[in-house]
Amino acid sequence: MNALLRQLSWVSICLLSFLLLATATSARAAIPTSKIGAEPIRLESFPIEYTVAPRTDMSLSEVRTLSYTPYESRLALGTEAKSVWVRFRIENTGSEARRLFIHFPEAYHNRAVEFYELREGVVHERVKIELNDAEQHPKMIREQAVYDTTLAAGQSATFYVHSWSYSHQWFALNVYDEQHSRDALAGTMLDIALMVGILLALFIFNFLLYFSSRSVENVYYALYLISGATWIALSYGLLSNMLGLFGDIALQFHLSLMAMAMFLVLFMIAIFDTKRSFPIEHKILVALLAVIVADFIYGIFDIVAALSYASSIAAIMIVITLSVGLSIWRKGHPLAIYFLLGHSFFFIFNALAVLYYKSILDFSYITKHGVGIGIMLEALMLAFIVAYRIKMLEQVKASQEQLRIEAQTDSLTGLYNRRYFHRRANELLEKAKAQGVEMAVLAVDLDDFKQVNDAHGHHVGDRVLIELAKLLTASCRSHDIVARFGGEEFMILLYRTSLNSAEAIAETLRRQVHDINVAEPSSQALRVTVSVGVAGVDLNVSSIELALHDADTALYQAKGNGRDCVCVYGEASDVSLSRETN
Ligand code: GH3
Ligand code: MG
Ligand code: MG
Repeated sequence: MNALLRQLSWVSICLLSFLLLATATSARAAIPTSKIGAEPIRLESFPIEYTVAPRTDMSLSEVRTLSYTPYESRLALGTEAKSVWVRFRIENTGSEARRLFIHFPEAYHNRAVEFYELREGVVHERVKIELNDAEQHPKMIREQAVYDTTLAAGQSATFYVHSWSYSHQWFALNVYDEQHSRDALAGTMLDIALMVGILLALFIFNFLLYFSSRSVENVYYALYLISGATWIALSYGLLSNMLGLFGDIALQFHLSLMAMAMFLVLFMIAIFDTKRSFPIEHKILVALLAVIVADFIYGIFDIVAALSYASSIAAIMIVITLSVGLSIWRKGHPLAIYFLLGHSFFFIFNALAVLYYKSILDFSYITKHGVGIGIMLEALMLAFIVAYRIKMLEQVKASQEQLRIEAQTDSLTGLYNRRYFHRRANELLEKAKAQGVEMAVLAVDLDDFKQVNDAHGHHVGDRVLIELAKLLTASCRSHDIVARFGGEEFMILLYRTSLNSAEAIAETLRRQVHDINVAEPSSQALRVTVSVGVAGVDLNVSSIELALHDADTALYQAKGNGRDCVCVYGEASDVSLSRETN
C-alpha cells in the first residue's frame, strides 16, 4: 500500500513538473521579442504584453503567473489600472555586445516604477524607483526613468517593467542605443515649454492689463492661464524636468486642474455679466462653481480621491458651460460665439485626450497632447475675447460720455441746461463759502422774441439764440456757468465776482447784443436786444435758488422799465441809468 502510494506520488510529481515546465516554456516562448543586430537601436513602438495587477505590492513571482495581453509599447489604460506590469524580451542577434537603454519617459507621474531584467528565467538585476525619492535616484534622468544593460552577442533578456500610477495609467517605453538615448533626453519638452511659455506670457500681460482696466475678468483670466500652464507643465513632465518635482508633491499640483475650471467659470460670469444680464444662466454657473470648489477643497486633503471625481465633474462642466454659452449666444451676446468656438476647441481636443487615456483611441501626438492643445487654443480664444471686451467697454464708455453730455447740455445752443446749472451752481456755492469769495447771477432774456420769430421765421430765431449763446460764453470765464434755462432765457453764474462787477459785465453784454445780426440780406433789419436782471449771491444760504429768484425779479423789473436794460436786485426800481437812450 505504502509502495503504491509512493509510486503514485512520484507519478504525480513527474506529471506536475512536466506541466510546470510546459507552462513555463510556453510562457517564455510567448513573451514578445524584439531582435537587435548591428544596426542603431531606436525602438519606440515594439511588441510587449501587459497585465493589470490586482494588488500594487505583488512580487515578481506572483506577477509572472498572471495572464498578459499583447500590445504595443505605448499604453493608456485609464484610472482603474493603478498597477500595470509590462514584459518583453530583447535578443541580440548581432555578433557584438550591445548596450541598451530602456526609457520610461512618463515615469514622473507615477508613485513607483520597477525594472526587472531576467536572464534564463532568473532575476539578473532589479531597480525600484520610489518617485518620492526620485531626485536622488541614479536611474532618474530629469523626468524619465532610464534602465541600462548590456547584452552579449547572441544573448537575450526578458524585462518586466512595473508602472504604479497615482491616477491615470499612461506611458510609453522606448529602447535606445547610447546615441539615441542621449538624443531622446536632450530633445524632450521643447513643445511643452513653448505651450507653457505662451500661457505665461499671456498671464503676465493680463495681470498688467488689470492695472489699467480694473476689470476682474482680467484677474480670472490670468489665474485661469497660470492654472492651465501649471497643469500642462505637470502632466507633461515639465515640472519634474525643470523643478525636480515628483511623487506626492507633484501630485498635489493636480489642484491646478480644478483651479483652471474654477477660474474659467468665474471668467464666464464676469465677461457675460451673468448676474445682471442672464440670471438663470448665472444660477447654473454658480451651482457648477460650488461643485468645482468643493472638489478643489476635497483635493487639498485627498487629491487622489478628488481626482477620481474630476473626470465626471469635467464632463458635467463641459456640458453646462457649452449649454450656457449657447443660451447666451441665442440671447444675442456678441462675445458668446467666440467663447463657444474657443470652448469647442477645448472640448474636442480634451475629448481626444480622454479617449486616449481610456485607451479607446490610439497614441498620436494629438491624442497624447490633447489637453495641452485644447487649453492653448481656448486660452488664445479667451485672449481674443478679453481684447474684444476692451473694445466693447470703450464703446460703452464713449456712448455713456455722449449721453452724459446730452443729459447736461441744450442741443440747439450747446450751453448747459437748467438741471446741470443747478447742480454745478450749488457746488460752486459751497466752494465760494469755503473760499469766502463773492458770486453773482445774471438772468438774461431776449426782448420781444416772439416778434422776431413772427417777423423773420423760426429758423432766424434759432440763429439768434445760437449767436447769443456764443456771445454769453465768450463774455464769461471758464469757471463761470452759462446755461439756457428755457426758450429765450439764459442764466449766468459769475464766480469770484462782486455785484458791481456783475452789473458792469451785464451792461457790456447788453450793448454787445446790439451787434448780433443774423437777418438775411433780403429781409428787413433785425434788431435784437436783451434785458438783464443782476443779483448777488448770499453766501449764508444753503441753495442758489434764492439768488436765481432775485435775478428773475430784477429781470422782471428790467422788462417793466421798457426792456434793453440792466436791473440790479435790491436797488431802486428807477434803473433807467442803465437804459441806453439810442
Ligand atoms: P419778452 O420781451 O416779454 O420776453 O417777450 P417775448 O416775446 O420774448 O416773450 P414770450 O415769453 O412771450 O415769448 C418767448 C418766445 O420765444 C416764444 C417762442 O416762440 C420763442 N422761443 C422759445 N424757444 C424758442 C426756440 O428754441 N427757437 C425759437 N426760434 N424761438 C423760441
Ligand atoms: Mg423774452
Ligand atoms: Mg421769456
